[in-house]
Amino acid sequence: MATIEKPFRIVIVGGGLVGLTAAHILSKTDIDFVILERHEILTPELGSLLSLWPPTLRIFDQLDLQDTLEPVLNPVDHGVSMSADDGSILLSHGYGIKVVHRPLFVEALYQSLPDSAKARIRVKKHVVKVNVSDDGVLVECADGTVERGSIVIGVDGVHSRVRQCMQAMEEGRAAPSISETPKSPYVTTYKMVFGSMPIPPTLPKNVNHECASGRVSTQLLTGNSLVWFGVYEALDKPTSERIKYTEKDKEEVIKRWGHLYAAPGVRVRDVFGLQNGNFGMINLEEGRVDKWYWNRIVLVSDAIRKLEPHAGLGYNSGLADVVVLVNKLRRLLETTRSPDTKALEALFANYQEERGKEEPIVHAMSMRRARSYAWLSPMDKIMTKYIIPYTNFGIYSTNRIYGPVVSRAPILDWLEEKSNTKNVQIPYVHHPIDKGGKSKNALYRSGHRGCSYCSGTPVLP
Ligand SMILES: Cc1cc2nc3c(=O)[nH]c(=O)nc-3n(C[C@H](O)[C@H](O)[C@H](O)COP(=O)(O)OP(=O)(O)OC[C@H]3O[C@@H](n4cnc5c(N)ncnc54)[C@H](O)[C@@H]3O)c2cc1C
Repeated sequence: MATIEKPFRIVIVGGGLVGLTAAHILSKTDIDFVILERHEILTPELGSLLSLWPPTLRIFDQLDLQDTLEPVLNPVDHGVSMSADDGSILLSHGYGIKVVHRPLFVEALYQSLPDSAKARIRVKKHVVKVNVSDDGVLVECADGTVERGSIVIGVDGVHSRVRQCMQAMEEGRAAPSISETPKSPYVTTYKMVFGSMPIPPTLPKNVNHECASGRVSTQLLTGNSLVWFGVYEALDKPTSERIKYTEKDKEEVIKRWGHLYAAPGVRVRDVFGLQNGNFGMINLEEGRVDKWYWNRIVLVSDAIRKLEPHAGLGYNSGLADVVVLVNKLRRLLETTRSPDTKALEALFANYQEERGKEEPIVHAMSMRRARSYAWLSPMDKIMTKYIIPYTNFGIYSTNRIYGPVVSRAPILDWLEEKSNTKNVQIPYVHHPIDKGGKSKNALYRSGHRGCSYCSGTPVLP
């Protein structure tokens, strides 16, 4: 008698930024999925900034999201690095990225999903436990409901419950109770107060101002109609504790740093004074976890790495994780619709190996950027005040550090790319496979051989 293959089904835990983008990707495949999100509303309460780097815009092109997202994208044409203490300009430079207001971006991502994908998003589903068996997973929610599937993808952020359950099962112990606050695998060196508001008429549009000082920095970025601002402050001592800040904590930070510059002629107290008090205050964790998968469970995005946001790489990196994972899953499912645990673990290991190669560079870029504004050491200050402005460091880092990471960013290898990305300044290594099954790119055809990334040649000096 022929065996009936169980249809493959992914249970995604977390309907945040990367979970929603994963819904777009999976809705272009024939893979069944469900998304469990603990909140009732997907849109975040507070409107922080989100910068999107070119490889992410490439994926949006593949997902037919360009037109939907165009109205919410803000170009940033110019960058100004300043001293937060005296307002002097350290460096004025071209910028050329796109930023979005997070709530508008989430709304656009959600509204542009096909109805069939929207129907797969279950809200008010707080996942409390994940169980695995030989042929599937069972995910339990706080309201007593369960979801069954073939694998679980944990996209549930910094304090990932899926990660907690996975690590406990791998180590043969019980998962921490839901009321406990287990120690984070990440370390917080900086905290941040942030907010947004309409641009005051005195400020130029589409400029990113970043102001440096000892252990504190400010940022004020203007888009087409909004301004996003933040104060980054180093903690007295790095910590892995989870801290919830109060209104009083926020007011104290603003008061303490009110005199610092946020843009030419604009001080922190001026900006926060114009706003109606709707600020956020959070810890900016940094770090990564060692193992990204176990059995039928795999983690992506903030559940495996947390980057300080100055370089704006968190969401962009999380999306790249999903792209690589779905590429590999699609290939495996072409050979069997019901892969066993061994085949899935091998695929997840391969995913971690591929994405893990970028990790040291992405972390170094994010950490360096944060410390070049809120200096933690005399060397940080010397770099920002005396080396970067008077050398070609900016060009060097674009060409030798940022550029190679951009050029190696993954693409959905099975989905057409409509825009021509052949003649771009930093050529891309990866291109989608042509309909005929052949890759447009020689490096891709050769199994990535010859690429400095894949051959392990260091990119950083
Ligand atoms: C101030 C700031 C600025 C940033 N700027 C940028 C930037 O410019 N560019 C950039 O690329 N990145 C930026 N980042 C990073 C970016 O926000 C994150 O990397 C990104 O949000 C990660 O997406 P995610 O979907 O993995 O996690 P999240 O967006 O945190 O989503 C996780 C989701 O999982 C849900 N969830 C959690 N636990 C459970 C559970 N048990 N059951 C069900 N659901 C659950 C949560 O409710 C949430 O909706 C910034 C971050 C901060 C803090």
